[in-house]
Amino acid sequence: MILLDRVTKKYSKKSPDALTSVSLHVEPKEFVIVVGTSGAGKSTLMKLLTREEKPTSGKIIVGGIDYDRLKDRDIPRLRRKIGVVFQDFKLLPNRTVFENVAFALEIVGMSKAEINHTVPKVLDLVGLKGKEKQFPDELSGGERQRVAIARAVVRQPKILIADEPTGNLDPKHAWDIVNLLLKINRYGTTVLLTTHNQEIVNKLKRRVITIKDGTIVQDRAKGGYKE
Ligand code: ADP
Repeated sequence: MILLDRVTKKYSKKSPDALTSVSLHVEPKEFVIVVGTSGAGKSTLMKLLTREEKPTSGKIIVGGIDYDRLKDRDIPRLRRKIGVVFQDFKLLPNRTVFENVAFALEIVGMSKAEINHTVPKVLDLVGLKGKEKQFPDELSGGERQRVAIARAVVRQPKILIADEPTGNLDPKHAWDIVNLLLKINRYGTTVLLTTHNQEIVNKLKRRVITIKDGTIVQDRAKGGYKE
C-alpha cells in the first residue's frame, strides 16, 4: 500500500536532512503509529505521502502510484486515495457540519442528490447524527475532529493520515478519536497516526515506528506484543 525506498528530504541545500534514507513498507489495512519528538520528521513523512512535498531522492509508491511518474494532473486522483486530518481540524468556520463534509464531495463534482445521500451516512459513522446544522464554533474539540475525520473519509480513501489528531483534545475526547480511527481501520482503511501520547501508543498494541533526527530508529511490529 505504501512503499518508501531510501527516501531523503532536504528543504534547502544548506539545511540538514529532514529525512535521511527512510525505507518503509506498510501493508493494506495496517494501522501504524508514528512517534518521535518535535522536529524528528513525522510531518515531512506525511507531506511526502500526500505530495505536498517532493523527496530530494528515493522512491515513493502509494496504492500502485509511482510518484516519479506522477503528473500534476494525476495529483487529484492521488489525493482521493489519501484522507488527511490535522491537530487543528482545519474546518471551514462559516459552513455547517454538513456543509464542511459536503464540500469534499462538491469539489470532485458529485451531484447534490448523491451528496445528500452520502453525507448523512458518514456523519452517522463518526457519531455526529443530529449535529448537521451546527457550526464548528458550536462544537467541542472532539466533535470538530469528528467532522474533520468525516470529511477525510467521505470519499472512501484507501489511506487515512492522522497527524497529531488528538493533540488539542483532553484524554477522553482523545480516546474517542482513537477509537473512531480504529473503527475506520476495521472497515479496511490503512491508517497512519502520529502522536505524542505515550498512553495511546502503549494501549493500542499496534505497529509503532519511531523517527529520530530524520531516520527510523525503531519499527516495532504489532506481533512484537504479547496480547
Ligand atoms: P515533526 O513533524 O516530527 O515535528 P517535521 O517533519 O515538521 O518534524 O520537521 C523535520 C525537520 O525539517 C525539522 O528540522 C524542521 O525544522 C524541518 N522542516 C520542516 N518543514 C520545513 C520547511 N517547510 N522548510 C524548511 N525546513 C522544514
